[in-house]
Amino acid sequence: MKKLFSLLLLAGTMNLTAQTNGSYPESLLLVPEKSNFEKTSSYADMMQFLNSIKTMSPNVYLGSIGTSTLGKDIPMAVLAQPAVSSPEQAKASGKPVVYIQGNIHGGEVEGKEVCMMLMRDILLGSKKELLNNQIIVFVPMYNTDGNDKMAKGLRPSQENSPLETGTRENGQGLDLNRDGIKMEAPETKAMVQNILNAWDPQMVVDLHTTNGTWHGYSLTWAPGYRYAGQAGPYEYTYNKMLPYITQQVKEKNDLFFGPFGDFNVREGWPLKFFYTYNHHPRYIINQIGLRNRMSILSEAFAHERFYQRINSTYHFVYEILDYCNKNASEILRINREAEANAIQNVLDNAGKIQKGVRYKMVPQAKPLNHFRTYDYISYTKPDGSTTYTKTGKIVHYDNVNYYADFKDTVQATLPRGYIIPAAFAHIAAHLKQQGAVVVQADKKQVYSGEVFLIEKFSKSPRKFEGHQMASAEGRYQQKEFAVQKGDFIIDLAQPLANLIFYTLEPQSDDGLLTWNFFDEYLESKGVATSPVEFPVFKYFSTKTTGKKK
Ligand SMILES: [Zn+2]
Repeated sequence: MKKLFSLLLLAGTMNLTAQTNGSYPESLLLVPEKSNFEKTSSYADMMQFLNSIKTMSPNVYLGSIGTSTLGKDIPMAVLAQPAVSSPEQAKASGKPVVYIQGNIHGGEVEGKEVCMMLMRDILLGSKKELLNNQIIVFVPMYNTDGNDKMAKGLRPSQENSPLETGTRENGQGLDLNRDGIKMEAPETKAMVQNILNAWDPQMVVDLHTTNGTWHGYSLTWAPGYRYAGQAGPYEYTYNKMLPYITQQVKEKNDLFFGPFGDFNVREGWPLKFFYTYNHHPRYIINQIGLRNRMSILSEAFAHERFYQRINSTYHFVYEILDYCNKNASEILRINREAEANAIQNVLDNAGKIQKGVRYKMVPQAKPLNHFRTYDYISYTKPDGSTTYTKTGKIVHYDNVNYYADFKDTVQATLPRGYIIPAAFAHIAAHLKQQGAVVVQADKKQVYSGEVFLIEKFSKSPRKFEGHQMASAEGRYQQKEFAVQKGDFIIDLAQPLANLIFYTLEPQSDDGLLTWNFFDEYLESKGVATSPVEFPVFKYFSTKTTGKKK
């Protein structure tokens, strides 16, 4: 009796203070936990959780990054000790901001639940130390509209677990992870403006579920890939941080993680090739590299059950946060150096060096060994053809060529800056939204530099994300360019140098020309039948000739 009484007393204490991991008020239980993992949280469920936890901890600030197409506020939770409620306060703290984004694809649901689980454990449980040296911004449900269009069968590779999920696309039918350059979705504009440009996260983590390849990893990861950005953040994330974390989850949690990719069993078995996804900055994680910051793509394995995917994603995000907390000053330093190097490169090398604007995927120098995968066997069909089927048995293979490096195939000269004529104010405005510093000329002056003569302009016959994507071939020609009052000048010696270059270069494989921003002008000038000058002018020196035209 006495023992029972003290147990009750203990339980009562735990409820009152909610300090111990594993004891929380009922209002903080998540939908998967209440439904035997058959259901995932709706927008209303998440709002109830956030509003509830807000009343229980002084260390969380709830804000909104913007409004979705269908009119939902997209909430963010800023966790800090002491609390902060503005980017200015975060900056003044000297601590790096780490941004964790869930549910960019509405059907890939474990990231959203994991954001809330971690908030619970950090604010009220045993993981408070994660706020010692960093500020954490969670957006559990980035794609609020997609999340709530729940139905059965929207994620066929996900084993019907949970039974119903939302849609991949946002309320406009757009894939938010292809929108990083064109920024057509209100979610992208909101995130770029109110997370990336406002809070300046040093690390961005985007949480997904894979689309189906039967490798044998519970979670696969990718850094922001190295192509037109600085090497430092990529090398630190890829060579140091991710291998360390992979080892940690194996030792602590018996989980096997590995690099992201897909194989095609029709290329033969055992597999010899494993391919990651493209380098394009339309993908949020890859764009972060062009912004001189670190980023990680997290892909839980689709064929594991929902509760297992929650487990893998939870431990992955926890380890990332633990690593960033313990190495906060090193991460800040590497990103700061990358930014300084991007600017210095323009100051030192404008007009002298070429940089890639189109890339192809190539294998890394070292193949993957001990590659973990479900095994396949081949069999012969009555028509004599050979085909493959998976066995459900996990095996390991050596010498798998991993396509995860990127080599440039087309280059352009690094300029000191760009001039955008006043008539293209929408282009200047778009770059400003990305965070670029753009100024308007207050007087006439003449710059010397180059202009790109478009000799061939092509558009893809098939639409992608509503676009017939464009590409231009041609050549650069020397030119004197008379800037008029009101024209826009972008001095490339600024933090977003690499992003601006990749966005504005006419031959870029993921720039504004690609996404049809110049179609109307070029077509009105008759690009289909004769060469047309690309209207953005490139200059190599800030020295103006003073000549008037
Ligand atoms: Zn995804």
